[in-house]
Amino acid sequence: MPNTIAERLQATLSAIAKAAELAQRPASDIQLLAVSKTKPVSDIMLAYTAGQRHFGENYVQEGVAKTEELAHLSDLVWHFIGPIQSNKSAFVAKNFSWCHSIDRLKIAKRLSAQRPEALPALNVCIQVNINMEETKSGFAPEEVSSAAQIIAELPNLNLRGLMAIPKASQSEPELAATFAALHDMFTDLQTHYPSVDTLSMGMSSDLELAVASGSTMVRVGTGIFGAR
Ligand SMILES: *Cc1c(COP(=O)(O)O)cnc(C)c1O
Repeated sequence: MPNTIAERLQATLSAIAKAAELAQRPASDIQLLAVSKTKPVSDIMLAYTAGQRHFGENYVQEGVAKTEELAHLSDLVWHFIGPIQSNKSAFVAKNFSWCHSIDRLKIAKRLSAQRPEALPALNVCIQVNINMEETKSGFAPEEVSSAAQIIAELPNLNLRGLMAIPKASQSEPELAATFAALHDMFTDLQTHYPSVDTLSMGMSSDLELAVASGSTMVRVGTGIFGAR
């Protein structure tokens, strides 16, 4: 069992490469997003030194503090993946390159309006409440195509794809069916929007199945940084 952050990062990249090979996909089609929520900047630096560049944060205040502290590392790419209250959206618009958690149109419109002119468009994924859970945010599957139409027109957003957090404690066949449904929605969206290239799906416990199911970005926290 690897026990340093650098070793666990390597093991995660190997697991992605192996799953990609089994699925006959190039490993380079799958981006690893290191989810550093609740972990100190010193842990991010260990992963950065080991070569990792994309990091995901869930909490606005904590994420903004980290982006500011590491602003001198210009090749670091920050992804916001948590719920956004509208009074906090400006911080996401100013400090992140990506937002995976677009769960309502109001937030998309605010992020576009608040994105600083000097920055490129904010890359966004529409969050899908794929298992229709009361406790999870996201658009219902049948709302995604109409939401995409509006989001794709917002001037300072770049629609990149879909993100979902499947229901916990599904059996493997249930989870495979959930991932397959997301992948279908993703390929359908791609036929309408050339900018769509990202299916943000899979975490520490299910990244192999996610890669087998067509994920292009896996979000791994525990597997790299240890338990929270
Ligand atoms: C915390 C979190 C992750 C990472 O989860 P792990 O199980 O620690 O890999 C991925 N995606 C989202 C949206 C999260 O909040």
